Amino acid sequence: MLRVFKFGGALLKDVRGMRNMASIVEEFRCEPLVIVVSAIGKTTNALENLLHLARQEQQPQQLQEAYFALMKEHIRLVRSLELQDESSLIHQIEGDFYNLWQALKKTPKDPFFAYDSVVSFGELFSGHIAAYLLGEKSLPVKLTDARTLIVTDENFTSANVNWPYTQKTVEARITPELQRGNIVLTQGFIAAGHKGNVTTLGREGSDFSAAIFAYVLQAEEVCIWKDVPGLMNCNPQVFSDAVKLAHVSYNEAIELAFYGASVIHPKTLQPLRKRNIPLKVCAFYAPETLPTLIDVNEENDADIPKIILKEHQTLLSISSRDLSFMAEENLKTVFSAFSKYKLHINLMQNSAVSFSVCFDENREKLDAVINNLKEEFILKYNTGLQLLTIRHDNGELLGKLTRGKQIYLSQKNRTTLQVLMRQMEE
Ligand code: ASP
Ligand code: MG
Repeated sequence: MLRVFKFGGALLKDVRGMRNMASIVEEFRCEPLVIVVSAIGKTTNALENLLHLARQEQQPQQLQEAYFALMKEHIRLVRSLELQDESSLIHQIEGDFYNLWQALKKTPKDPFFAYDSVVSFGELFSGHIAAYLLGEKSLPVKLTDARTLIVTDENFTSANVNWPYTQKTVEARITPELQRGNIVLTQGFIAAGHKGNVTTLGREGSDFSAAIFAYVLQAEEVCIWKDVPGLMNCNPQVFSDAVKLAHVSYNEAIELAFYGASVIHPKTLQPLRKRNIPLKVCAFYAPETLPTLIDVNEENDADIPKIILKEHQTLLSISSRDLSFMAEENLKTVFSAFSKYKLHINLMQNSAVSFSVCFDENREKLDAVINNLKEEFILKYNTGLQLLTIRHDNGELLGKLTRGKQIYLSQKNRTTLQVLMRQMEE
């Protein structure tokens, strides 16, 4: 029975997590296994910051400091693993960091291309460390570079998978290893375009990588290991009465992911649903507990209300300068600006002369969109809002969760209620 495991970076950030990962893998070693790892801890954010500093050439000191801090963090993790022979791994990590420095110095013109060439390093580091640790445990692990497996277009920062090519490369490189009895370990999030340029699948995209491998290899199941007991009905760090969901359908999980439940990357579910591959959300620190099962069956979807609260939202209201309707032609212009700057819309609403959109706060992209549209449209925005989504409300939650809030926009359909709001000033 072929399984695909995905271990997120939050789990692998320290020696406890790394060792736990290794013991879970040991547990399942007798069956075919593909392991996907993402960058440790907050590495991806740190790499984004390095790129930002590299662009502002007047900050060489800050860039160096941030670079060495990230390197130290990785070397510290390697040392804490107390490997028999750590020197070759340290050598490897230092080599990766050298290459990262080269990539930072290049900063090519296309900012999206530059982003992928820098940010992809996080998974290279973690892949090397995880593979090395498993190797020392005498597990037959074969590290296979995801850039030689997942083939995409060159839509840098959220590349689209070329499925037929990916099928070929995965079959050529992973299948023989599995047949030899090896465990394949690869990196999440990263891929490559046809010309070999590194691409990424979008933030938090390692779940999607796991689904890609499962789809192509026709795996029996995908397990996403999490530091929570499974898929919860709301974020336990925000709501003290969060409960674990035993079972939801692909559709319900897609909706939850789309509305911002950060547990699963939204693209993950589609390939799995196509091949009916169950997804399990498993408790990393309690592997014996029953995971949340996600499959085609919808019968439990409405049992428990689910709450998703997305912070740091911006509301942008766009109206025409000539009082023309915000209909097809004007909306076409607006949407092409959003698409050009890759600003993902979380919620939208329109009236005759105004169109409102809400998205995750991003100053650079907001400015770019405003500049692009300001000649034709009047643009007003609010920042620091919260987007509340409730699925299958039991009639009690909305009032409770919006008390003391100023509502900017709300929307409702049969299953979902959404409110864009802000805490009222005392
Ligand atoms: N390391 C990437 C990120 O933090 C991908 C992932 O973690 O899934 O976005
Ligand atoms: Mg991550």
